[in-house]
This record gives sequence, structure tokens and C-alpha cells, in this order.
Amino acid sequence: MVIRLVLFGAPGAGKGTQAALLKEHFGALHISTGDLFRRAMKEKSTLGDQVRSYMDLGFLVPDEIVMNLVRKELVDVVKENGFLFDGFPRTIPQAENFEQALSEMHHSLTAVVSLEVEQDLLVRRISGRRVCPKCSALYHVDSLSHGEVCPTDQSPLEQRKDDAEEAVKTRLKTFALQTLPLKEYYREKKLLLQIDGSGTPAAVFARLLSVLQPVLD
Ligand code: AMP
Repeated sequence: MVIRLVLFGAPGAGKGTQAALLKEHFGALHISTGDLFRRAMKEKSTLGDQVRSYMDLGFLVPDEIVMNLVRKELVDVVKENGFLFDGFPRTIPQAENFEQALSEMHHSLTAVVSLEVEQDLLVRRISGRRVCPKCSALYHVDSLSHGEVCPTDQSPLEQRKDDAEEAVKTRLKTFALQTLPLKEYYREKKLLLQIDGSGTPAAVFARLLSVLQPVLD
């Protein structure tokens, strides 16, 4: 089954966690623009230098930089067995540009899934979020029973710089102002599917699969 999805939601809504589960289930490629930017910063590339100040403070990277990256990635992405975009698009111009790029490649989206989570829960999830610097796996401190080390490769876990309190406030505001209007945009295009993103990753995944069923038939 080929699936071409956008995972939509506020920071902490669980997009990365659900993308990893969907990837395992459908064998589709997972593309997180945030991960691509973090990798560029780690490698100290020109792209990394361009995006660092925006990311650390919780602002969006300018559309032009995002689209240059995505358009380059898309050439290989569309050859894969489906894709899952996580954290992209984040603005209306990005969505319009994305649609155009896909149609140039004779592709279109299967659906846009919005993970709906209350603000209090978002903040709790983000403040407890830890990431493995080696394998990029995500954890929450409450689910770690042997201290803050990666259960897979024993690397000490880290907190993302933009998960600090001030940057989180900016990211949530940025989401409300610049990204939320995309919901209406995709609703009008009849691509929007909404699910409750609270509860365990497995519970959310079950909801996700059931809402996707009709569009996959
Ligand atoms: P994420 O890992 O998706 O939470 O993204 C982390 C940060 O990367 C965001 O707060 C933005 O600064 C930047 N970023 C990631 N994706 C995009 C995008 N599609 N448009 C603009 N900025 C982005």
C-alpha cells in the first residue's frame, strides 16, 4: 500500500513518534525537515549556519530555505514506496509550493493527518522529551526506567535546545499564527483527517490507522 502523508500538529503533538510507527507499518520514507536541519547544524554545513539562529529561538526557518531543501529531497523521495512528511509544510506558501512540486512529479497527497492535543499536554510532553544523539530515537523521561540513557545504544540522552521553556513558548505561538491556518487550507482541499493525539503512542496509532482506512481502500 503506497501512502503519501503529511503529519500535522503543534510541537509535542507526537508527529515524530507516529511517523516512526507509520514508517514501520507502511515501509514509507519518513522526512522530518526539523531532523534535516538538526543534522545540517551538527555537520556545521552552510545550511546549518543559515538555520541555527531561527531554530534555537523557536522561529520558523524562511520558506525559501525550506523549499530549496524539500525540492532537493523530493527527487529521491517520490521514488520510494510512499512518504511521511513530519513538520512540513508549516506555512501556506510552503503548502502551495509543495503541491506544485508534487504535481510536476505527477504525485499528490493521500491525506493530511492532524494530531489534536491540548496545550497543557503539549507543554508536558515537550519539557519531558529527550532524544538519543546517536539513533535519534525519542523518549519521555516518565517512560525511562534506567535513567536518561538510550535503551537501544546506551548513549546519554539529550534535551533539544529549542525544547527549553522560552523557545517552547515561541514555537507554540509561531504554530498558532503561521501553521494553524494550514488546517483550513487542507480542509478545503478535502485532505484533512483529524484525530485525538492524547494517550499512549499505541492508542494514537490505532486511531490513526482507523481514520486512514477509508482513504486507503
Ligand atoms: P521540529 O523538529 O519539526 O519541531 O522542527 C524544529 C525547528 O526546525 C522548528 O521550530 C523550525 O525552526 C525549524 N523547521 C522545521 N521544519 C520547518 C518548516 N517546514 N518550516 C520552517 N521551519 C521549520
